[in-house]
Amino acid sequence: MDVQRILTGDRPTGPHHIGHYFGTLQNRVKLQNEGHEIFLIVADYQVLTDRMETELIEQNICEIVRGYIATGIDPQKSTIFVQSQIPELAELTLLFSMITSMNRVARNPTVKEEINAMNLEDTVSLGMFSYPVSQAADILLFNPDLVPVGEDQLPHVELTREIARKFNRLFGDVFKIPEAMLSDVPRLVGLDGDNKMSKSRGNAIFLKDDEDTVMKKVKSAVTDSGREIVYDRAKKPNLSNLIDLYHLVSGKTIEDIVNLHNGDGYGEFKEALGQEIITFFKPFQERVLAYSDKDINKIATDGTKRAALVAKDMMSKTKKAMKIQYGF
Ligand code: ATP
Ligand code: MG
Repeated sequence: MDVQRILTGDRPTGPHHIGHYFGTLQNRVKLQNEGHEIFLIVADYQVLTDRMETELIEQNICEIVRGYIATGIDPQKSTIFVQSQIPELAELTLLFSMITSMNRVARNPTVKEEINAMNLEDTVSLGMFSYPVSQAADILLFNPDLVPVGEDQLPHVELTREIARKFNRLFGDVFKIPEAMLSDVPRLVGLDGDNKMSKSRGNAIFLKDDEDTVMKKVKSAVTDSGREIVYDRAKKPNLSNLIDLYHLVSGKTIEDIVNLHNGDGYGEFKEALGQEIITFFKPFQERVLAYSDKDINKIATDGTKRAALVAKDMMSKTKKAMKIQYGF
């Protein structure tokens, strides 16, 4: 087997939710266990694109590292690192911003959606507008083959590929052209029916949620009119989303779930779904119990040291190719 290098990551804006698990975490763990080389970036600078509550970032970095460990990332095998602690990332962002047009950045549908969702139309910062360029640097500095992401990230990976090609054309081959890798669940919808479950939109079930919280959230999930449990994407889109989630966490087929709940109302159905989620989360929550805050800190520190070596080497190659690695 060819060992592939993989780069992927998360913003430390809160703990992982179940959309992350099926959208990307599950894939990452599988790739790690198949022997691939994984780099996981905790993108703390990217948090600043849409919020300034900087006092929460450090704690959220730890939440993300905990989420990795909980779901099966092994810090001996995979490299977990913190974006802001690798200064070459900021340097490469600057260089890439010189070869990327404003028009190209303005066309990004995910950024547009995020700006809309936060009502930032007239006040969007330059950093938010151009964060996909920074993300291209996050990816390319580690020269990966694959980038496992949810659907919302596809435009960013496409831009990354364009930047890599343009750089290589201008200065010679430095960067591989990475491929996006989508899971079978590229976009889990929110409990409010919003098209994406998201840490920032108050519509997520977190992997670390306790039993009561899971139950409360599931019971408050939006449903459709008519109390019958049927899977009908056109007539009952919200219930169908919940049945999809039930299928994911229980492994039962859609047909079995519908049969099982024949005659039940939403209340009974949601109770059973909540239980399935609680059972599904249990091993994750138990695995991470053994790790103290100090352990988590050390994992991020050690990983960042390893990532820094790769970053230095790649930055030096980049500058050499650009003929800006001067003798002074
Ligand atoms: P935020 O709202 O703060 O941006 P987020 O929930 O979008 O949080 P990110 O840290 O931005 O999470 O994304 C991390 C990874 O998880 C990305 O690869 C993203 O595509 C994936 N992801 C996020 N939400 C979902 C979802 N609902 N379904 C599938 N994948 C998702
Ligand atoms: Mg996001």
